[in-house]
Amino acid sequence: MLKGSCLCTAIEFTLMSKPKAITACHCRMCQKHHGAPFAVYVSVLKTHLSINKGAQLLVSYNSSGEIQRQFCQKCGSSLFWLGSDSHTDWVSVALSTLDEPCNVDKVKHIHQESKVCWLDL
Ligand SMILES: [Zn+2]
Ligand SMILES: [Zn+2]
Repeated sequence: MLKGSCLCTAIEFTLMSKPKAITACHCRMCQKHHGAPFAVYVSVLKTHLSINKGAQLLVSYNSSGEIQRQFCQKCGSSLFWLGSDSHTDWVSVALSTLDEPCNVDKVKHIHQESKVCWLDL
Protein backbone atom coordinates (compact mmCIF):
# COMPACT_ATOMS: atom_id res chain seq x y z
CA MET A 1 0.00 0.00 0.00
CA LEU A 2 1.26 3.46 -0.92
CA LYS A 3 -0.08 6.69 0.53
CA GLY A 4 -0.33 9.97 -1.33
CA SER A 5 -1.69 13.49 -0.94
CA CYS A 6 -1.98 16.84 -2.68
CA LEU A 7 0.18 19.86 -1.79
CA CYS A 8 -2.25 21.23 0.82
CA THR A 9 -2.96 17.69 2.15
CA ALA A 10 -6.74 18.28 1.99
CA ILE A 11 -6.89 15.21 -0.29
CA GLU A 12 -5.31 11.97 0.88
CA PHE A 13 -5.40 8.65 -0.93
CA THR A 14 -4.01 5.14 -0.83
CA LEU A 15 -2.94 2.83 -3.65
CA MET A 16 -3.85 -0.71 -2.64
CA SER A 17 -1.55 -2.36 -5.17
CA LYS A 18 2.01 -1.72 -6.20
CA PRO A 19 2.26 -0.09 -9.65
CA LYS A 20 4.27 -2.07 -12.20
CA ALA A 21 5.58 0.73 -14.40
CA ILE A 22 6.22 4.44 -14.54
CA THR A 23 5.04 6.43 -17.55
CA ALA A 24 6.55 9.80 -18.39
CA CYS A 25 4.22 11.63 -20.77
CA HIS A 26 5.63 14.44 -22.89
CA CYS A 27 2.33 15.45 -24.57
CA ARG A 28 1.40 19.14 -24.65
CA MET A 29 -1.65 18.59 -22.41
CA CYS A 30 0.46 17.01 -19.65
CA GLN A 31 3.06 19.76 -20.04
CA LYS A 32 0.34 22.39 -19.57
CA HIS A 33 -1.52 20.67 -16.76
CA HIS A 34 1.62 19.99 -14.73
CA GLY A 35 3.47 23.19 -15.67
CA ALA A 36 6.43 20.94 -16.34
CA PRO A 37 8.31 19.46 -19.34
CA PHE A 38 6.59 16.12 -18.75
CA ALA A 39 4.19 14.41 -16.36
CA VAL A 40 5.11 11.22 -14.54
CA TYR A 41 2.41 8.71 -13.67
CA VAL A 42 1.93 5.26 -12.22
CA SER A 43 -1.24 3.30 -12.95
CA VAL A 44 -3.40 1.09 -10.77
CA LEU A 45 -6.85 -0.45 -11.16
CA LYS A 46 -9.52 2.11 -10.24
CA THR A 47 -10.74 -0.24 -7.53
CA HIS A 48 -7.23 -0.08 -6.00
CA LEU A 49 -7.33 3.69 -5.52
CA SER A 50 -8.98 4.72 -2.30
CA ILE A 51 -9.61 8.41 -1.55
CA ASN A 52 -9.35 8.63 2.24
CA LYS A 53 -9.94 12.34 2.69
CA GLY A 54 -11.13 15.35 0.69
CA ALA A 55 -12.90 13.53 -2.18
CA GLN A 56 -15.33 16.48 -2.40
CA LEU A 57 -12.37 18.77 -3.29
CA LEU A 58 -11.42 16.70 -6.33
CA VAL A 59 -12.21 18.61 -9.53
CA SER A 60 -12.27 17.03 -13.00
CA TYR A 61 -11.20 18.71 -16.22
CA ASN A 62 -12.18 16.95 -19.45
CA SER A 63 -9.04 17.63 -21.55
CA SER A 64 -9.89 15.52 -24.62
CA GLY A 65 -12.33 12.74 -25.55
CA GLU A 66 -13.36 11.00 -22.34
CA ILE A 67 -10.14 11.88 -20.51
CA GLN A 68 -10.59 13.44 -17.09
CA ARG A 69 -7.70 15.17 -15.36
CA GLN A 70 -8.42 15.48 -11.66
CA PHE A 71 -6.84 18.01 -9.34
CA CYS A 72 -7.26 19.57 -5.92
CA GLN A 73 -9.61 22.54 -5.95
CA LYS A 74 -7.73 24.17 -3.06
CA CYS A 75 -4.06 23.88 -4.05
CA GLY A 76 -4.23 22.86 -7.73
CA SER A 77 -2.10 19.72 -7.44
CA SER A 78 -2.56 17.44 -10.45
CA LEU A 79 -3.48 14.06 -9.05
CA PHE A 80 -5.29 11.63 -11.35
CA TRP A 81 -5.79 10.91 -15.04
CA LEU A 82 -8.56 8.56 -16.18
CA GLY A 83 -11.04 7.73 -18.93
CA SER A 84 -8.76 6.13 -21.51
CA ASP A 85 -10.76 4.04 -24.05
CA SER A 86 -8.19 1.26 -23.94
CA HIS A 87 -7.77 1.18 -20.14
CA THR A 88 -11.25 1.92 -18.76
CA ASP A 89 -10.61 0.13 -15.45
CA TRP A 90 -7.37 1.99 -14.73
CA VAL A 91 -6.42 5.31 -13.20
CA SER A 92 -3.07 7.03 -13.56
CA VAL A 93 -1.72 8.75 -10.47
CA ALA A 94 0.81 11.60 -10.61
CA LEU A 95 3.90 9.89 -9.19
CA SER A 96 5.21 12.83 -7.16
CA THR A 97 2.02 13.09 -5.13
CA LEU A 98 2.93 9.79 -3.45
CA ASP A 99 4.35 10.30 0.03
CA GLU A 100 6.53 7.23 0.03
CA PRO A 101 9.00 5.90 -2.51
CA CYS A 102 7.52 3.85 -5.31
CA ASN A 103 10.28 1.56 -6.52
CA VAL A 104 9.48 0.59 -10.06
CA ASP A 105 12.15 -0.52 -12.53
CA LYS A 106 10.24 -0.04 -15.74
CA VAL A 107 10.07 3.56 -17.04
CA LYS A 108 8.60 4.42 -20.40
CA HIS A 109 8.57 7.79 -22.12
CA ILE A 110 5.57 8.48 -24.35
CA HIS A 111 4.64 11.30 -26.75
CA GLN A 112 8.28 12.16 -27.28
CA GLU A 113 7.29 14.08 -30.45
CA SER A 114 6.56 17.04 -28.17
CA LYS A 115 9.52 16.48 -25.83
CA VAL A 116 11.33 19.72 -24.95
CA CYS A 117 14.53 20.16 -26.99
CA TRP A 118 16.86 20.70 -24.02
CA LEU A 119 15.99 17.40 -22.39
CA ASP A 120 18.31 14.55 -23.27
CA LEU A 121 16.80 11.17 -22.43
ZN1 LIG B 1 -4.75 20.30 -2.13
ZN1 LIG C 1 0.24 13.39 -21.62
